[in-house]
Amino acid sequence: MKNVLLVVSGPSGVGKGTLVKELIVRRSDVVESVSCTTRKPREGEVDGKHYFFLSQKEFDRRIAEGDFLEYDEHMSGMYGTPRSFVQKTLQEKSVIMEIDVVGGLNAKKEYPELVLVFIMPPSKEELVRRLKGRNSETPEAIEKRLARMDFELSKLPEYDYVIVNDDFETALQELSDLIDKEKNK
Ligand code: 5GP
Repeated sequence: MKNVLLVVSGPSGVGKGTLVKELIVRRSDVVESVSCTTRKPREGEVDGKHYFFLSQKEFDRRIAEGDFLEYDEHMSGMYGTPRSFVQKTLQEKSVIMEIDVVGGLNAKKEYPELVLVFIMPPSKEELVRRLKGRNSETPEAIEKRLARMDFELSKLPEYDYVIVNDDFETALQELSDLIDKEKNK
């Protein structure tokens, strides 16, 4: 069985973070890559665990040195995947990256064998309900996230798998099963 590199994308609020976190807890053969970002930490976020929080200057330096497998700008800041961590970890385990569609497609250019997984909400209404439930989002931010979702959905045909996150356990099982399938290819 080989180790696989996966990207999990999907609109914010879809629950992809929770799915990936739980998958990591249940599977010792899969590790999550920790991204770098220039955005400020949210309450409860820990440097080096949720993200590596960098200054813009440091982020730019790393871009110039080719340290990122891919990077992209979002409304909240810059985000990038550290190349060395992914390469090193893949020698022992499968690696999962929770990144947006632009980052996913860019990463696939470098790693054609990368597996792209898109997590869909059961409906747009349900996504709005989940975003509002977060309480950290202003109405304007929610609007922007929904507009971004339309863009992300336009890239869906380029993805290898689509999982609808309606029932959490079912979605988690589907994610785990596709990893097994890819590992055995
Ligand atoms: P948040 O700030 O809410 O944690 O993430 C905002 C967006 O950045 C999400 O769509 C998330 O998937 C994306 N993101 C997180 N890490 C990376 C990364 O390393 N590269 C790219 N391209 N996007 C990322």
